[in-house]
Amino acid sequence: MAASREPREWQFEQGPIRPPNEAASLLLRITRNCPWNRCMFCAVYKRRKFSLRDVEEIKGDIRAVRAIVDDIRATSESIGAGGAVDASVANHIFQREDLSERYKRVAVWLYYGAGACFLQDADNLIMKTDDLVEILTFLRETLPEISRVTTYSRSRTVVNKSVDALTRIREAGLDRVHIGMETGYDPLLTFIEKGVSAEQQVDAGRRVKTAGMELSEYVMPGLGGRAMWQEHAVETAKALNRIDPHFIRLRSLRIPKLAPLFAERKAGRFEMQPDDDLIREIRLFIETLEGIHGAIASDHFMNLLEDVSGKLPEDKDKILGVIDDYLNLSETDRRIYRLGRRAGKFRSIRDLTRNPAEYNYFKEWIEEVTEKKGEAGVERLIAELVDQYV
Ligand code: SF4
Repeated sequence: MAASREPREWQFEQGPIRPPNEAASLLLRITRNCPWNRCMFCAVYKRRKFSLRDVEEIKGDIRAVRAIVDDIRATSESIGAGGAVDASVANHIFQREDLSERYKRVAVWLYYGAGACFLQDADNLIMKTDDLVEILTFLRETLPEISRVTTYSRSRTVVNKSVDALTRIREAGLDRVHIGMETGYDPLLTFIEKGVSAEQQVDAGRRVKTAGMELSEYVMPGLGGRAMWQEHAVETAKALNRIDPHFIRLRSLRIPKLAPLFAERKAGRFEMQPDDDLIREIRLFIETLEGIHGAIASDHFMNLLEDVSGKLPEDKDKILGVIDDYLNLSETDRRIYRLGRRAGKFRSIRDLTRNPAEYNYFKEWIEEVTEKKGEAGVERLIAELVDQYV
């Protein structure tokens, strides 16, 4: 592949991650890495130093996106698409080897037309309010194509901002904050070094809502391990009941090698929840949710059941039904589903009956591994398949 020879005015910075539901969003980095960087389960920014970015530098990045958008529109005109970014324009751009992945992402963003922009990295509300307001105002003025702006932030950071400051930030153009709550159980928050209490999580969530922004809370099933799973499920649900966020998103625990929790697990001080117990834990969590008027989503590929999703309170029974349907499967079918899911083929237990050939493929694979390595071998295989992505 030819090296990119893009002009300087098209260059802008992007960070390593985004929430799963921001896959089609424009990604713009306004701070680098994580100012906390101590959570035991997290390896994303380990060995990387946090830094604030200069406001003028960020504005330069926003101008770069503007220049790319204008160039893509000009390309569209030149090939007869009238400035629209349709499949013909997207294909034309993707075939060009002289354009960077970054440029092509902007084309994808325009092609899907959702207009969402996600600000990276881990904790952007840590910026001075005036700076953030200046950036958001400039972003909205320069890229009127943007319809929604979202970001990650930590609860501990949010509680340092007044509701007035958060309201100014919302008025300047920030629509939604994603917060990694993970758990609402204080001893577990201490154990994982989240650097925040359950009470502060509740306070932060309420401040974001009072300021008029949408709130998305990430919860991590499995984080309590075998020792604290019940308290984790119940206390997290109780904290969320006090916040009533717009979105609750599940992201089940897996432990990357660089995460401090990996060593704890290796030393036997942390025991992971087996898949079926994890599903029981999620059931208890959902059962305990009350007075929530938002959506629950299971859109992370680490989750076993994607269709644990819906709108609360009306879909609560349906969601519990999805869980019960899984738990009521025979042990063999649960294992076939888990292998198919971790191999990237199954998304719902309905897939077990949709394609008999696929079902038989995974069944025979399990039989073969069981014969050679026993049931423990099958469990190792399933764990290896999922952990290849962490
Ligand atoms: S605050 Fe978020 S990004 Fe930072 S260490 Fe914790 S989980 Fe990782």
